[in-house]
Amino acid sequence: MTQDQVDHLRALPVAIPEMIIGGAFVGASTGKTLDVVSPIDGQKIADLPDASEDDVLAAVAASRTSFDKGVWANMAPAARKRVLLNWAELIEKHALELAVLGVRDNGTELSMALKAEPMSAAGTIRYYAEAIDKIYGEIAPTDPSTLALIHKEPVGVVGAIVPWNFPLMITAWKIAPALAMGNSVVLKPSEIASLSVLRVVALALDAGMPGGVLNVVTGAGPVAGQALAMSMDVDALVFTGSGNVGRKLMEYAAQSNLKRVFLELGGKSPHIIFEDTQDLDQAAQAVVSGIFRNSGQVCIAGSRLLVQDNIHDTFVEKIVALTENMRVGDPLDMNTQIGAVSSASHLEQVLSALDGVKSIATGGKPILQETGGSYMQPTIVADMSADDALVRHEVFGPVLTVSRFSDETDALTQANDSELGLASGVWTSNLGRAHRMISKLRAGVVHVNTYGGADNTVPLGGFKQSGNGHDKSLHAIEKFINKKTAWIKL
Ligand code: NAD
Repeated sequence: MTQDQVDHLRALPVAIPEMIIGGAFVGASTGKTLDVVSPIDGQKIADLPDASEDDVLAAVAASRTSFDKGVWANMAPAARKRVLLNWAELIEKHALELAVLGVRDNGTELSMALKAEPMSAAGTIRYYAEAIDKIYGEIAPTDPSTLALIHKEPVGVVGAIVPWNFPLMITAWKIAPALAMGNSVVLKPSEIASLSVLRVVALALDAGMPGGVLNVVTGAGPVAGQALAMSMDVDALVFTGSGNVGRKLMEYAAQSNLKRVFLELGGKSPHIIFEDTQDLDQAAQAVVSGIFRNSGQVCIAGSRLLVQDNIHDTFVEKIVALTENMRVGDPLDMNTQIGAVSSASHLEQVLSALDGVKSIATGGKPILQETGGSYMQPTIVADMSADDALVRHEVFGPVLTVSRFSDETDALTQANDSELGLASGVWTSNLGRAHRMISKLRAGVVHVNTYGGADNTVPLGGFKQSGNGHDKSLHAIEKFINKKTAWIKL
């Protein structure tokens, strides 16, 4: 990748975005669109179809027809696998173009987006493709006069609603295992970041996926998303996004067909630095990149720093120095370390979370306003106590809070004092302490002497109000299968 290639791609007009329903490229039936405004410079770059309830129901119907006809579910596993592998290859082939398009839409710095978006999505699709012909049914150990078989069947039509922070990566986490197991899917990306998702779904058709198996509708969450969640013909709903919307989805499921609902929600992840950390410089680097990449708009961002008393001041000095050296700016400049906040309204929300906060150690201000884009200084707020709103609520922006702790018990108490429990991090050279923290932290992920490990082989999911499902790994497949028992009298 060279800067010239990137600049060439960024100058191209965005192709007219179209939804894909039953294999056909369509606009909203009402003709309505939403403006797509780039957070890089505040310019409008496209008109996004704003799907009506009828459009969503048409997508669900197409999905149901494809499922009932068995065009995908009954395809030989090896053939289904080939289609998914072709798809992954096509995504990789178009990776730079997809990454640049996505960055124009949501502002993530390209250095991160290329790896975390198309390349990661292709890797996830390949991982689940390779699992297709390795998942077996079971024979239960019943009385010898009977044979009891446990079949693993696709659940049917899966609805997937995804957020804007990593649209391709999260889409792949949801739909790759669903498709691998033979389900048909209706996908609803965020209105803030739909462009690269539409392009990736189009590539699935090029890869040989039959029309109707993977449908995508775009538009407003409270219309298109709600219609999908309320549909009587969606069997399972998978979601990544905010807790507020997650709550509504459970209500919609209760008001409609009791579809199963799997939620991956927000985080306020504690990052804990003990005085016996072997390399404080390495820890400081991990803390800073663990919160500020993608402008802090990362579900597992280590947004709550807890530092032991007697290294507190030295450590805060280190992270402030590193933070002040980070290059914030045009996300399509390959040297940029922190790109734009996803939208002007989200930037406003992040800044308003800092209203009245006094102990800002660095940052706290919008910058580069002359560009028309949405940029903000990476921000560290010191001397926070457990009751401060900034410590309790997810900001989902480049804001790190810092609090002190005295000993291991105090660290654990503060770390677990949250309604959320997605991720956490611990730095220590004491192996016993590391294991005690792993077992006592109420979070779906615990990092020790590192932060932000990512691999398809391990599940990602939250405790408490961070969610009830798991993405990634073979465990994610369970969400997309029905277990059917067959009794045979011998
Ligand atoms: P959001 O909840 O506002 O939107 C997510 C999706 O829901 C979008 O597609 C939106 O259009 C749709 N939606 C909105 N209202 C709806 C409604 N009434 N009915 C149905 N759908 C509706 O979240 P966001 O701002 O896009 O994403 C940020 C949130 O996502 C943060 O809380 C972040 O922590 C979380 N997140 C979690 C993970 C994880 O793995 N746990 C990963 C990434 C992001």
